[in-house]
Parts: sequence; structure tokens; C-alpha cells
Amino acid sequence: MTEFSYCMPSRIVLGKGSTARLKQYIQGDRVLIICDPFLYQSGAAERIGANLEGCTVSYFHAIEPNPSCESVDAAAEAARALGAQTVVGIGGGSSMDVSKIVSCLAGDEGSIYDYYSGGTRTLSPRTVRLICIPTTAGTGSEVTNVGVFTNKKKGIKMPFVTDQFWPDVALLDPELTYSLPPAVTASTGMDAFCHAIEAYWNKESQPICDALAVEAMRLVLAHIKAAYDDGNSETAREQMQLASLLAGVAFSQTRTTGIHAVSFPLTTEYGASHGTACSITLPAFIRISGEGAQAKMDRLCAALGYESIPQFADAVEALMVSMNMPTRLSQLGVQEDALEHIAQVGLGAAIIQLTPAVMNQETVTALLRSIL
Ligand code: NAD
Repeated sequence: MTEFSYCMPSRIVLGKGSTARLKQYIQGDRVLIICDPFLYQSGAAERIGANLEGCTVSYFHAIEPNPSCESVDAAAEAARALGAQTVVGIGGGSSMDVSKIVSCLAGDEGSIYDYYSGGTRTLSPRTVRLICIPTTAGTGSEVTNVGVFTNKKKGIKMPFVTDQFWPDVALLDPELTYSLPPAVTASTGMDAFCHAIEAYWNKESQPICDALAVEAMRLVLAHIKAAYDDGNSETAREQMQLASLLAGVAFSQTRTTGIHAVSFPLTTEYGASHGTACSITLPAFIRISGEGAQAKMDRLCAALGYESIPQFADAVEALMVSMNMPTRLSQLGVQEDALEHIAQVGLGAAIIQLTPAVMNQETVTALLRSIL
């Protein structure tokens, strides 16, 4: 018998030029915009902020990839100093994730460390409005209740999950993604594909998310190479942003699986971007997915036009190679004697057990060895 629960409290607005309507979604007149240096220096963040005529708008633009807890605390200080009533995160997952926790800390006390990664305090109900505007087509963070932060003190990156992180509004404008360089288009786009397939084969999968995930995978396969080859392709950019959104909604309900679990040490210890760290193990995880989800994967292969799981995995790998993405761990600098350790760290993330295959020290190490 099918049983599931589905919750999507964020308003989703997608369309070319949609950020011109930002003002109608804000609360109060003091707004903190959080972004990264590129989006500030390119003028993209200020162009969006210019739509908030009559408001006091401040910018915190020092967000780095895989944002640290220290950046979060500095941004929270800026929000408190402003008395922010709305926090707007503009950027990839890094800036959006920081905006989520800052919208909470703005009306609360203390440091992120008090609430996360060993901290014991619980966030008070959020009073500051949260709006997320993605500029990559990948993370889906604009529609999830997750933030991912790097605890530099412990040298680990881990997710923080709370219902306070559902954005009030996800505002998507495909034009914001035109400036993505090809390599970032590829890695973030394949991150979206990972979200979709991990929602689909997840032990906690459910019919609504399955439908979204299959469509997201179809869209990525159809449009990622065109977006990579021509960043100004209106159709490719729009369809990739839609794919990322659908995949985000899908995994926001199911969570992710082994691909994301193993990605964390590849990012913190080898410096791989999030999308690269995830997609490098994607073909290998597809190859073992029949172990616990054969019938479902057969249906997926049929829906996407492949005859078998191995053919599907080979096609995904070929697509990655066509976009100059690494497909071997050695390309990230990983050596044979590190595989046991990477497997061990990956196994420390509870989501790994949502993978449709036995996940233990031996099987995860073997999977990693198969792509060394
Ligand atoms: P990112 O936000 O770290 O940005 C990567 C790079 O792309 C940056 O240098 C940035 O300046 C640049 N960039 C962003 N938009 C651009 C644009 N339009 N044009 C040119 N350059 C642009 O990358 P990301 O992959 O979007 O986010 C990764 C982070 O999100 C990781 O920390 C990851 O763990 C997290 N994440 C969160 C969720 C979630 O649900 N909260 C889901 C997946 C990943």
C-alpha cells in the first residue's frame, strides 16, 4: 500500500524578468541581500536590489563556495545591525543556504555553532522573511528546508535541516543563469540530475516526487549539453532551471542518498565543487542501483530511452566526459589508500542508507575503487 506525506510551503514564482516583482514579496522596508563576490561585482545583485525602491537595502557579499560557519556569523551580524525584516539570498546554493540560517539568526541570538554541529540550542520561530533567488541551475536550495555549512573547526561539511529554512518565496529568473561559465553549468546541472535520481531510487521515494524526478532527469539529459555549449540559449537555460527546481522539490521530501553522502569528503578534503563531488560517483551508483530497485530502474531506463541500467550509466558517463567533467577519483587527486577513509566518512552520513543497495565499509570502498 502506498503511504506518503508531501509538504511544499514555499511559494514558487518562475519566469523571465520575475525579479522585477521582488518588492511585492518582501516584508517591512529593511532588506539584507546576501550574495557572493561575483554576483555583487558583476552588478547582478544590485540590479535586483534596485527593484526595492523606498527600502533600505544592504548587501553582504562575502559568501564563499561551501560557506563556513564564520561567514554565516558575519552575515547574521550584518542582518542584526540593519534590523533586517527580509533576507534575500541571491546566488548558488552557497548564498541561498547562508540566507536561510541568517533569516533565523537575525531575530535570534548567538552563533550558528550554538544551534548546529554539536550546538544544543533550538532556533526560535523565524520572524524575518526569507526569499531565495537561484543563479545556478543545480542545488534546488530555493525549495528545500536544508542548509549545508562547513565547520572549519572540525574540518567537516554537513547539512542543517529545519522547517525554519523553507523559503517564503522562491523567485526564479532563468536570465540570471546566462552568465554561468560552461564548467559551472555542467557541474551544477549534474548536481540537479543527482538530486532527481536520488529522490527517485530513494528508499523513501513517493509518487509525487517520482513524477517530478523523472521529468527533471529528462530535462537535464535533453538540455544540459546545449546550455554548456551556448550559455545564451534561452531554451536550454530555462529548461535547466526548471529541471533544477523540479529535482529540488523531489529531494526536499525524500532527502538524498549515497552520492551526496560520499560527496562531502571529496569537497572538504579534495576541494571538488559540490556538483563535481556528487556527479563523479553518479555512474557507479547507477550501476549498482538494480540491487534494490531493479523494477523501478527498468521503468526509468524505459522512460529515458535506455535499454538497460549499464547502458544508462554509460550514457551518463559519456555525457559528463563530453562536458570535460572528471569521471575518475584519481582526477581529483584521490589515491588508493584513501578509499577506505572516504567510504568511512560517507557512511557517517545517515542518508547513505537510503541508497537502494547494501551500503557498508566493504561495498562503498568497492564502489569507489571501481572509479579510481
Ligand atoms: P555556489 O553557490 O558555491 O557557486 C559556485 C560558483 O558559481 C561561485 O563562484 C559563484 O560566484 C558562481 N556563480 C553563481 N551563479 C553564477 C552566475 N549566474 N554566473 C556566474 N557565476 C556564478 O554553487 P552551487 O553549486 O550552486 O552551490 C553549492 C552549495 O550548495 C554547496 O555548499 C552545497 O552543499 C549546497 N547545496 C545545498 C542544497 C540545499 O538543499 N540547501 C542542495 C544542494 C547543494
